Amino acid sequence: MSDCLFCKMVEGEIKPDMVYQDDYVFAFRDISPKAPVHILIIPKQHIETLNDLNDAGLAGHLLKTAIQLAKQEGLAEEGYRTVFNCNKNGGQEVFHLHMHLLGGRQMNWPPG
Ligand code: AMP
Repeated sequence: MSDCLFCKMVEGEIKPDMVYQDDYVFAFRDISPKAPVHILIIPKQHIETLNDLNDAGLAGHLLKTAIQLAKQEGLAEEGYRTVFNCNKNGGQEVFHLHMHLLGGRQMNWPPG
């Protein structure tokens, strides 16, 4: 989508601090990190919200990538959090599906 920030990253028009990509997903460091490690994992295909994700293979691939990056970033043993914010009540600000991978500090529960 031409006016989507994350699509512009996938297309190379905007260059984030990229940590991983393959044919299906793209991952980069959040510009405003909420934890020592804060990575966003997105599908390359434009999907607006979690409500629109109906491809089980892609869903699994997003999760698999998060696990791989958590290990790569040294988070796996201590632990980490993955989050999809969906629509207004979920606090979604960018309407291109993304999974947050957060780690490197103790997370609180319940989340704010
Ligand atoms: P959400 O509130 O779940 O939609 O999260 C959107 C995330 O995108 C926020 O954590 C922002 O800090 C992050 N973000 C916005 N613009 C950029 C950017 N140019 N590069 C990296 N992360 C960004």
